[in-house]
This record gives sequence, structure tokens and C-alpha cells, in this order.
Amino acid sequence: MPELPEVESLRRILARSATGRTIVRATIAEARLRRAIAPELAAEITGRTITKLDRRAKYLILELSGGLAMLVHLGMSGSLTHRDAAFDSGSFDPRHDHVAFEFDDGTHLVYNDPRRFGLMKLVALDAIPALAELRAIGPEPLGPDFNARYLADMARGKRVAIKNLIMDQRVVAGIGNIYASEILFRAAVRPTRRSGRVTRAELERIVAATGPILKAAIGSRGTTFRSYRDSRGQPGRFAERLMVYGREDQPCLVCATPIRNVTIGNRASFLCPNCQR
Ligand code: ZN
Repeated sequence: MPELPEVESLRRILARSATGRTIVRATIAEARLRRAIAPELAAEITGRTITKLDRRAKYLILELSGGLAMLVHLGMSGSLTHRDAAFDSGSFDPRHDHVAFEFDDGTHLVYNDPRRFGLMKLVALDAIPALAELRAIGPEPLGPDFNARYLADMARGKRVAIKNLIMDQRVVAGIGNIYASEILFRAAVRPTRRSGRVTRAELERIVAATGPILKAAIGSRGTTFRSYRDSRGQPGRFAERLMVYGREDQPCLVCATPIRNVTIGNRASFLCPNCQR
């Protein structure tokens, strides 16, 4: 499932390739995503120019001329690719190309989503902060509001495992299973610890670990295990740099102790029993 680094990486590439392009045709082949795409989206978006690419949590926001914006969520398996004549669509099953926007230069922006858990809708640009999808989401992990004091407020008295706390989208936006595991390894905090028992110094280490890990992942175009591709159809490269995630029984890259896989809230969680306390 794409996490924040994958969506931010996609935003950056699309910002370069799609800003300033005008949509001359929109085709909705399959409207039934997590929620159905409104039938009028195709007519309303046609003729509009993409003015800016923004992101909030794991939502991509395509700002459009005329005060509208298109909100896109990739769900479990979605991808948004900007295709020109040289684009290699080999890793995309055309049966899952649900939506296509043709631009004024003949290129296409294509939404492909095998599992159809994504979301795509047009909204008024000035209504975005109040949208139900975004209102309850916590601060951006790379922004100033995600700091040790804030995390201490969120953790105080909570019995939930610290890993689940930082994966809670109401606490902080966009961190999922992969990056939560990596952040807690770098912070040397065991993911199973009760949030309320994690010390202030440890919470500071968690916040301090978050920026470098997410930025490195963005720089590597995210992590690909199955379906994720960026807007040029390229897989991410961060999998090569994972310290614990997916490395069960392999030696810890710091101390050589075998990495353990423990289940927290039905999710696989990877940790080094020696480095993380
Ligand atoms: Zn270790």
C-alpha cells in the first residue's frame, strides 16, 4: 500500500510533468472505486488546466483552473501514470486502467487500480481544508507540528502499542507499516511498547528519526513490494535500504542479532530485540 513517501514522490514527478497541461478529454471506463466517481467528473474537468500539484497525508491534490481541485487517493493498489508515446505500460494491466485524462500535448494521465480501493473526486479548492476525508487527519510528519511535545500529548496514558500510535492517521499523517517499523528501529524503541510508557527522550528520538527516513524514502521514489509505480511507471528503490521491514531472521545490520517478526494488531512488525528496547 502506498504510504506518504510514495505519494510525495509521485507528486514531485507529476508537478514537473503535468503542471500547465490542459485536459482535453476525460474517459471514465470504470467508476466503481471505493466510492463511485461522480458521472459529471469527466465533463467538469474537461478544458481545465492543472495549475499545481499538492498533497495532504496520502491524498494527492491536483489544483485546476477555475477554483476546482481533484482529490486522488491511491487506495491499496492504485497508480497514476503520465504516459507519452515512449511509456512502457508493460507492468499495468489495461483492464485496470479505469480513468484516463488526455492532455493538450497528446500525453495521458492514467489511473490504474486492480483492487479499486482508490478515490477520485472534484471539489472546490477552498473547501479542501473542511473535507471529511482530510479534517480528522493529524499533522504532516515532515512539518513543524509533528514534534516531541505533540507526540507526548498523544501518547500520554495510552495503552496502544507505540507502533500503532504512529500509524494512527489521526495522530500523524501518512505513516504506514513499513515506515513505522523503520522509524522505531532508528529510534531504538520496541514497537510493542505501550505508548504511555515510552519516555520523553524516546519520543524525541522517534520524531527525530521520522524526517530522515521519510526523506530518504521520497528520494528513492518509495518502496515497492508489489504494485506501486510512480508516475513514470518506475518502481521505488527504498526496499534496498530497509533495516528491519521484511527482514525476519536475517541479521540486524547494526548488531547481527536475527530480526524478529511480531504481530501487533494483525500486522507484521519487524524489530531487532537487541537494538530496540
Ligand atoms: Zn540490532
